[in-house]
Amino acid sequence: MVLAALLVSLIVPAWWLLVGGSNAAPTAPQLFPIETWRAALADDDASLRPAEIRLVEVGSDVAPRIAAQAGAFKANWRTSYGGFQVVTPQGSIFIDAGIDAEISDIMARSPDTSRFDQQAYDALLSGMERARHILLTHAHRDHVIAVARHPRPANIAPQLRLNPAQKFGLGFHSKGGVLPPELAAVASSIGKGLTRIAPGVLVSPAQGHSPGSQVVFVTLQSGTEFLFIGDIVWAISNIEDLKIRPRLTQVVVFDPNEDRTAIKQQVRALSDLSMAAPDLIFLPAHDRDHLIGLTEAGTIAMVMSD
Ligand SMILES: [Zn+2]
Ligand SMILES: [Zn+2]
Repeated sequence: MVLAALLVSLIVPAWWLLVGGSNAAPTAPQLFPIETWRAALADDDASLRPAEIRLVEVGSDVAPRIAAQAGAFKANWRTSYGGFQVVTPQGSIFIDAGIDAEISDIMARSPDTSRFDQQAYDALLSGMERARHILLTHAHRDHVIAVARHPRPANIAPQLRLNPAQKFGLGFHSKGGVLPPELAAVASSIGKGLTRIAPGVLVSPAQGHSPGSQVVFVTLQSGTEFLFIGDIVWAISNIEDLKIRPRLTQVVVFDPNEDRTAIKQQVRALSDLSMAAPDLIFLPAHDRDHLIGLTEAGTIAMVMSD
């Protein structure tokens, strides 16, 4: 009897932390209105749309899949850190700014699995200096370091496109917690609604994982469509299985916690979107198997590889 009570007292909290309360919403409004996005980009000169998307991977690691997906006890989850380079005839657009060696060490699960590529990080820093625009999916530390700690902030400030919550969040990740004056002076240029960035490129708000979270919709010259979904989910399987992160991850990783109700709706809406637009390609920030698979298929290019 005592043993049974003890087991229950352990199993119930473990279930609550690792499995329960993590299903996607049964229904969701159209949070990712692709027809509106397509209409907003319809008049763009197709020859000026992006030609190619490149994965700029500066680090990788391996974590238990349960961290990314409630109830997924079996497999590992290979993680990727870095950003993307959207190559356009008018210059590149960078989306997210990865981690540096210091943050890689802090986040490493073990020295055996964690990998950081200083050459790739240096290329990200210099690429951003030549970019036409720099966007962030959100301002968590594993997405902003090449911006917040850029050694030459004056060279990236003119192309930095932020929403107000991202600008607020960016400062927490600078050295000493204070943005360099060149970045602090950057005005927010992304509002609450849809914002067109360049031919074939727009951002659309997606608050939930963080207050400044947004998605980036890109249509290439070829017509192939991509949606950069940041950390709404960490693995594509979250969308396929309609599961969000477990509560344990929320407690351990996020401060402040993400809005689980919003994420549940967004995962349902992404699932709906995948059925309405089956050729649309999702680019989550950290699902290494999915991203490397896309590079191997030639759908996106790999700038730096291990
Ligand atoms: Zn995040
Ligand atoms: Zn992240």
